[in-house]
Amino acid sequence: MTPETRMDMPAAEFRRTARETAAWIADYLEDPGRFPVFPGIAPGALASQLPAEAPRAGEPIEAILADFERLIVPALTHWNHPRFFAYFSVSASGPGVLAEMLAAALNVNGMLWKSAPAATELEQVTLAWLRDALAFPRDWFGIIYDTASISTMHAIAAARERADPDFRRKGASGRLTMYTSAHSHSSVEKGAIALGVGQDNVRLIPVDEAFRMRADALASAIERDLAEGRRPFCVVATIGTTSTSSIDPVPAIAAIARRHGLWLHVDAAYGGPAAIVPELRGLFDGVELADSLVVNPHKWLFTPIDCSVLYTAHPDILRRAFSLSAEYLKTAEDAQAINYMDYGVQLGRRFRALKLWFVLRYFGRDGLAAMICTHVRWAADLAALIDAHPDFQVSAPHPFSLVCFRHKSSDERNRRLLDAVNATGQAFLSHTVLRGQFVLRLAIGNIHTTWQDVRATWDLIQSLC
Ligand code: PLP
Repeated sequence: MTPETRMDMPAAEFRRTARETAAWIADYLEDPGRFPVFPGIAPGALASQLPAEAPRAGEPIEAILADFERLIVPALTHWNHPRFFAYFSVSASGPGVLAEMLAAALNVNGMLWKSAPAATELEQVTLAWLRDALAFPRDWFGIIYDTASISTMHAIAAARERADPDFRRKGASGRLTMYTSAHSHSSVEKGAIALGVGQDNVRLIPVDEAFRMRADALASAIERDLAEGRRPFCVVATIGTTSTSSIDPVPAIAAIARRHGLWLHVDAAYGGPAAIVPELRGLFDGVELADSLVVNPHKWLFTPIDCSVLYTAHPDILRRAFSLSAEYLKTAEDAQAINYMDYGVQLGRRFRALKLWFVLRYFGRDGLAAMICTHVRWAADLAALIDAHPDFQVSAPHPFSLVCFRHKSSDERNRRLLDAVNATGQAFLSHTVLRGQFVLRLAIGNIHTTWQDVRATWDLIQSLC
């Protein structure tokens, strides 16, 4: 194609700008801590600086990149910052970023095997590698969705399909009931809302003193619902809850699920990657009894967002829940190949397996395990420092890399402390409420974090309190 007929950016301009952009990315990732982790701006700060309309005529790429640096970057919360300890971190590791660049350039749509053979097959192979690295059952089938919320929604849909095959055609009967702990992620209820199960039909089972689902309360809730003529169909247990990283008693929950024919889904979105560490496998007792499990490489496996993996022992049921064969999507290979569009709501799919493949190969199983192990150790070391302080207390067990703690005084003081820490731009924490008390959360998991960052943040917290 001659330059005159080319509609896209000229190749020479692309090559030059790509080199500059790669250099910018390398500088950024070398020291993401040079930006304030939270920009300290108010809602609307960026929008008010941008024109109300898209430009009529195209603009030079230099002008766009200059505005990216001048306007966009300073208005970001920097998830790559080594002292980003809020929520659960997401790491833009070098190999993950490179794979994302390549996936964007290839721009394939993995809806069918035929539409992207390598994307489909790499997803199968990479998810088998991950499954084995995490010591999950070898017959589990894996599929990548964007987020754990969507993975869990698909698991609930499969559970519903097994319990009520007519639901798909006839819609809700209002009798299906599901169970999860009062500490499970909101995505479980959202999945029930989206699938027409209804929020009123989700039972939030109370937790014990360590914020774990009470198996006895689960059993009683199921008995009560059965007595009222309801149809219990699914239970969602969590390994690594969002508030405290607590671990539900999966073996006991699995036994109850089996007794009553419930689908057991395990939300290991955050905690799951820790199964790569042989010494931590004990935290995953009972997962082999699950019907499905979600683990997010984009949370604690150094893979850029988005990448969430759903494993299931029953791919046939998941497929039954979603496959529809439109004539224009039929291919000659349908009988021999996986068409991932059959296993979910979405048709088009990004080539997400590429970044997970890059990450697994670049760091290796041992490298990933070593990083996760180190984070768990730092969390324990930090908890020991907090416990040794006369005015602070650790508020929950810390089996993984999240430490929940509070100043022993009032909620108000803890709230002010959190705001003060985050206002410095030097570190970013989040909070939760446990037993009615405001608690600070410090989650370690970012690939850029060092022990010095954890220690300095603890010093900052003490100095501001
Ligand atoms: N499950 C757990 C335990 C989580 O902590 C989170 C988010 O932090 C989610 C699910 C939702 O994850 P996603 O943002 O991938 O939907």
